[in-house]
Amino acid sequence: MEGQIRELKLQLEKQYLRTKELENENQHLENLLTEKDNMIKELQTRLGALEISCNRSSSDSDQLGRISRTTAIAPEPSPEDWDISLKMIHKSASERSLIIKAIRQNDFLNRLDEEQINMMVECLSWDECNQGKVIIREGSEGNTLYIVADGELNVTQAGRYLRTLTKGDVFGELAILYNCKRTATVTAVTHVQMWCIERQTYRSIMTNKSKRKREQIMGFLKKAKTLKGLNDTQLSKIIDSMEECKFQNNEIIVQEGTEGNIFYIILKGEVKVMKLVNGQEKEIRMLQEGDHFGELALIRKICRTATCIAVGQVTCISIDKEVFEETIPIESIELPEDCDLFEKSSLSEKKSCIFSSHNSRLHTSLKLNDLVPVLYQDGKYQGSPVTLGVGGFGRVELMTTPISCPAEYFALKRVSKKLIVSKRQQDHIMLEKKILQDIQCNFVVKLFAAFKDSRYIYMVLEFCSGGELWTKLRELKRFEEVIAVFCTACVVEAFSYLHNKGIVYRDLKPENLMLDRHGYIKLVDFGFAKEIVRGEKTYSFCGTPEYLAPEIIKNEGHDFAADFWSLGVLIYELLTGSPPFSSSDPQKIYSKILDGIIKFPAYMREAARSIVNKLCRQRPGQRLGNTKNGIKDIRHHRWFSEINWQKLQAGQMEAPTVRLIRKGPLYVNFDRFPPDKTKADEEFSGWDDDF
Ligand code: ATP
Ligand code: MG
Repeated sequence: MEGQIRELKLQLEKQYLRTKELENENQHLENLLTEKDNMIKELQTRLGALEISCNRSSSDSDQLGRISRTTAIAPEPSPEDWDISLKMIHKSASERSLIIKAIRQNDFLNRLDEEQINMMVECLSWDECNQGKVIIREGSEGNTLYIVADGELNVTQAGRYLRTLTKGDVFGELAILYNCKRTATVTAVTHVQMWCIERQTYRSIMTNKSKRKREQIMGFLKKAKTLKGLNDTQLSKIIDSMEECKFQNNEIIVQEGTEGNIFYIILKGEVKVMKLVNGQEKEIRMLQEGDHFGELALIRKICRTATCIAVGQVTCISIDKEVFEETIPIESIELPEDCDLFEKSSLSEKKSCIFSSHNSRLHTSLKLNDLVPVLYQDGKYQGSPVTLGVGGFGRVELMTTPISCPAEYFALKRVSKKLIVSKRQQDHIMLEKKILQDIQCNFVVKLFAAFKDSRYIYMVLEFCSGGELWTKLRELKRFEEVIAVFCTACVVEAFSYLHNKGIVYRDLKPENLMLDRHGYIKLVDFGFAKEIVRGEKTYSFCGTPEYLAPEIIKNEGHDFAADFWSLGVLIYELLTGSPPFSSSDPQKIYSKILDGIIKFPAYMREAARSIVNKLCRQRPGQRLGNTKNGIKDIRHHRWFSEINWQKLQAGQMEAPTVRLIRKGPLYVNFDRFPPDKTKADEEFSGWDDDF
């Protein structure tokens, strides 16, 4: 009996232990499941947001806040160095007319000028395929635009039929702008014949055309006596401000005796100059391509001394006195001797570095091993390392140094080397580090140290404990004006510093603005920043669709002025919750940007409208900030009347944004992320030797 009881007891004990074990396993599995659930929830929210924005019509999407983070478009390696030889392919007259008609009917391509369309027609290549062939697959990377020459195709999305394409239809346009994922599948329903063009070809047509045109206009401007005193950078600014205008046969461009305020250069066609002599109109000259007229109008009040009439169709490029005066400090102009009515302006500015007295603590002795992760102290991830954010390339984790007293905190950005290589972003990561390590500005996140190992590259950054401005904007839908003004003023300071150093930022958006613990804004993510020489342009297509300046979309070459455009977009988004040019379809965003029409909600004040309009001017040379007084013109705009710039620069202004910052554990202003249990693959190609 006793033996049996002992046996039973033993069995019971065993059973108990097994149950405990199972319970533990269950707990572990449950943890894993909750983690997965959370991840699914997070993904569903993101997907939901994406779907909502996809299903929304473009008009109503203007009214709602932007609910999903936007993905930035990374520049492709040195596209400006492309010098591909363009292959011309002969086309019959009917083929040409089909293609031109297709281009003109396309909402995006119809903005190309005649010469660009002609080049494109020449370079299109021929392709055909049999019934059933998938030409574009949803989710794959796109490279080519197609024009249907004959046959029928079906467009489907996630297996759902969307529409049929036939002769003269264009598809795959986005791929000629940048490397993007196809959003639908296109399948041949019959035998299909098509004209196609690849991104490299398209971009080099556009870029080369823009470069040639700039050079040509520069040559023409150099012939104008009045502009003799200007250097190339100033002339380049004038080009950025000039606008193209067209005249019909016999149209009067300037009329003798009237007050003149526009200067013209003829790009195409001829202009007849007439003068009244003894009451009779007499032709005194014929002007050709490259000739200019009306230059004196730029520097003083004059009455036109002759009439200029278009002979046939004429294209000119022009600038008026007001814009000219905004573009160039007037004292640079060498005046003709007979000048009298001239007032000298003393508005030119010598800029000095606003942060020259700033002390940054560079942690030259800091080692990666000195850093230990800060752990969540509560919630479902209690005990796991705190993740501050997950970007396109890696994670940013909160770290501390156990030895320092008081404790110091850092944001450690960790990026997979393998991923960088697969996305061909080696040069950009190197540049991000190089640019960040040279920057000492209170409005830009500080880089304290950089490391690498076989799997990752690491950047030890100043920890911005207030969280992302993007998160705060989502919570509040839109900001009160004082908050928007303060945040934008911080960005203006950051831009002022960066531009002075010859750096364009190129990825402004609320997602890249962090709050420090005092509520001051810091620019993070320098993945797209680039050093450029004043007066020169860069040609890569990069940035975030809603924030792209028109000259980037048109491949005309861009510079610091693209940042000012995005500043206008930022102000609008901070005040209304969504950017001024938005749609679920990127192509539509680009069309809206090129149209440049901004609709303001009734509650937006006049001063805000004014600054947005001035920053979002189509011609880069006319944008506030890029005019002759530079960034000073932005600081002096009445929308900033409450900002004391000196105090802001010294960090002595009270930040209205402090009320956006929650109090609590260090990570309270950040979303929470599950721990990362994966390990990136090793990468040994050596691109990061100098990192
Ligand atoms: P992206 O997809 O925007 O290119 P990325 O991989 O370049 O991302 P970052 O944008 O630099 O990475 O950082 C990702 C996120 O990490 C940020 O959105 C932010 O939430 C957080 N983060 C980055 N830097 C800091 C910092 N210095 N302090 C606190 N959080 C930060
Ligand atoms: Mg980012």
